[in-house]
Amino acid sequence: MRIYKVGGAVRDRLLGKPVTDIDWVVVGATTEEMLAKGFRPVGADFPVFLHPKSGEEYALARTERKSGRGYGGFTFHASPEVTLEEDLIRRDLTINAMAEDDQQNLTDPYHGQRDLEARLLRHVSPAFAEDPLRVLRVARFAARYAALGFTVAPETLELMRQLSESGELEALTPERSWKEISRALMEDQPQVFIEVLRACGALKVLMPEVDALFGVPQPPAHHPEIDTGAHTLSVLQQAALHKQPLTVRWACLLHDLGKGLTPEEEWPRHIAHEFKGLKLIKAVNERFKAPRDCQELAMLVGEYHTHGHRALELKPSTLLELLQSFDVYRRPQRFEEFIAACEMDARGREGLEQRSYPQADYLRGAATAARTVAVQPLLEKGFKGPELGEAIKRERLKALKAYKENT
Ligand code: ATP
Ligand code: MG
Repeated sequence: MRIYKVGGAVRDRLLGKPVTDIDWVVVGATTEEMLAKGFRPVGADFPVFLHPKSGEEYALARTERKSGRGYGGFTFHASPEVTLEEDLIRRDLTINAMAEDDQQNLTDPYHGQRDLEARLLRHVSPAFAEDPLRVLRVARFAARYAALGFTVAPETLELMRQLSESGELEALTPERSWKEISRALMEDQPQVFIEVLRACGALKVLMPEVDALFGVPQPPAHHPEIDTGAHTLSVLQQAALHKQPLTVRWACLLHDLGKGLTPEEEWPRHIAHEFKGLKLIKAVNERFKAPRDCQELAMLVGEYHTHGHRALELKPSTLLELLQSFDVYRRPQRFEEFIAACEMDARGREGLEQRSYPQADYLRGAATAARTVAVQPLLEKGFKGPELGEAIKRERLKALKAYKENT
């Protein structure tokens, strides 16, 4: 039995990046031998084990063959005869298809090291096209390593284009797609993920609502970059620069979907795009079964981002409605995330990245003013039920009027 480090751990060590999780491949062993050594089996589909002490993943060397659509459509073959080279060739990218023994001797039959130096994300073999998830993985690696100068090799992009056209992407489960999307959005350059998906035609399949934003103009006075797609990418980039959480990044990506529905004769204006976009945001949310907090924030940001920008001009009654819609009294964190998304939207515009955003503190102050209304005195006055609700609202409105006058 021979054991090698594979995949990300080898790649990231050669790149001089920190290695977090290590994947191992075991050559020349049987399942029985692994169990006898105390490894715990995981995964019903293929022979993967957890190390009894470290808990790291050890997979028996295996070959794969495509036998149908989607992820289930694979036949695996693991046996002690499968060689390291045979295992490595089934992997997605050459830089992920290197192995290393305990002396750090490199096995690199597909020239991953050469591609690391050339800063190229290149597929290992034509079998790349057998798993459509690889389109998303490559786009995610492009986002992760963009700062190091990595790009997708032209022949790999071509394969990704064919895969996107073939209809195979539709066979991906929401769970597998979301895992890649959410990880990609948390990279330092998430906009590159969207750019690569767009370049190979996958964006049109996965998120046609986002794809449709490219080529749609906005008023240059507010949007020097003009193009709505370019704006969306900048907003995403700002969200990453400002280390925003996944909820905010997801909301940033989807906030302007309504602009893709504007009839051309209305361009570059987008009347009521906030409201029109909601059904699109909902559709994307549901397509990927995004987690509830991501779904909620995306819908709220979609509907109210313009309110955020106009915060200082809003009437106290409108401010109150905004705060009520967010249930800011019970969900203060969600309102903070809304403010963050609005700020990213304001900065994600050409030449305006450094602008100040006084709306943020103004909104925070308004939330505090409304929250400080005490319920106890109203209870003591005898209000209850719906009347109590109305009385609280009246007091909050008063507080917001005072806030607006004094700010
Ligand atoms: P990360 O740093 O994100 O963990 P990684 O390269 O280690 O990157 P994993 O998802 O942990 O990625 O997978 C480990 C290895 O398994 C990859 O390097 C690659 O060789 C292979 N691999 C994983 N998923 C696929 C896939 N869908 N198709 C082909 N090879 C894959
Ligand atoms: Mg890994």
